[in-house]
Amino acid sequence: MQFEELQQLLNLKGVTLVAVSKTKPIEEIQKLYDKGQRIFGENKVQEILIKAPQLPPDIRWHMIGHLQKNKVKQLLPVVNMIQSIDGLELLKVVNNEASKLSKTIDVLLEVKIATEESKYGLSKEEVFQIAESYLNDGFENIRICGLMGMASFSDDAYLVKNEFIELKNLFEDLKIIFNNRPEFSILSMGMSGDYQLAIEAGSNMVRIGSLLFGHR
Ligand SMILES: *Cc1c(COP(=O)(O)O)cnc(C)c1O
Repeated sequence: MQFEELQQLLNLKGVTLVAVSKTKPIEEIQKLYDKGQRIFGENKVQEILIKAPQLPPDIRWHMIGHLQKNKVKQLLPVVNMIQSIDGLELLKVVNNEASKLSKTIDVLLEVKIATEESKYGLSKEEVFQIAESYLNDGFENIRICGLMGMASFSDDAYLVKNEFIELKNLFEDLKIIFNNRPEFSILSMGMSGDYQLAIEAGSNMVRIGSLLFGHR
């Protein structure tokens, strides 16, 4: 699909596009930047560290892959949002490193919604535990801005849609727990193969790679 076409469709629906540029070269990212795209998603710290200095400084980099605690320190100076917080200990490390930089970092909690066995992501119970800890224990250098999730890789639209609806419902529950803080506003769900279903279910941020850049 053409970038312009996708951008127009998402704009109409008020959905933010994260262009997932993992494995793609600088030139292709620059091309999309020249067409107006500013948010790019990567899943490896090393790749962001190599790419970011070679590209315009107003790109907003989103970390969307599993983040190891020992990589947080290197990542923080270049990243604008970490979408893949999948544990309380990781959140503590991010807060600690961000405080050393006197920086406040925007994050999303990654929730496991797929029925298939996926490695990373929080259970609902863990999400509630983290929310409680976040509200009670400070975390002054973290802003939890919403939730991220990936549905099952499946042709069963009914299954996929239901997983997205489950995440949307959790998102609404958390808004109440967070007392409608304005920054808790992002529901990041939907990829190349399922973004339409995700938007129907209430997504307001999609992470799209292969549809924009071609197959990896
Ligand atoms: C790779 C990736 C995407 C994009 O996948 P596409 O199917 O290429 O659109 C989205 N989210 C995460 C977490 C990813 O790792």
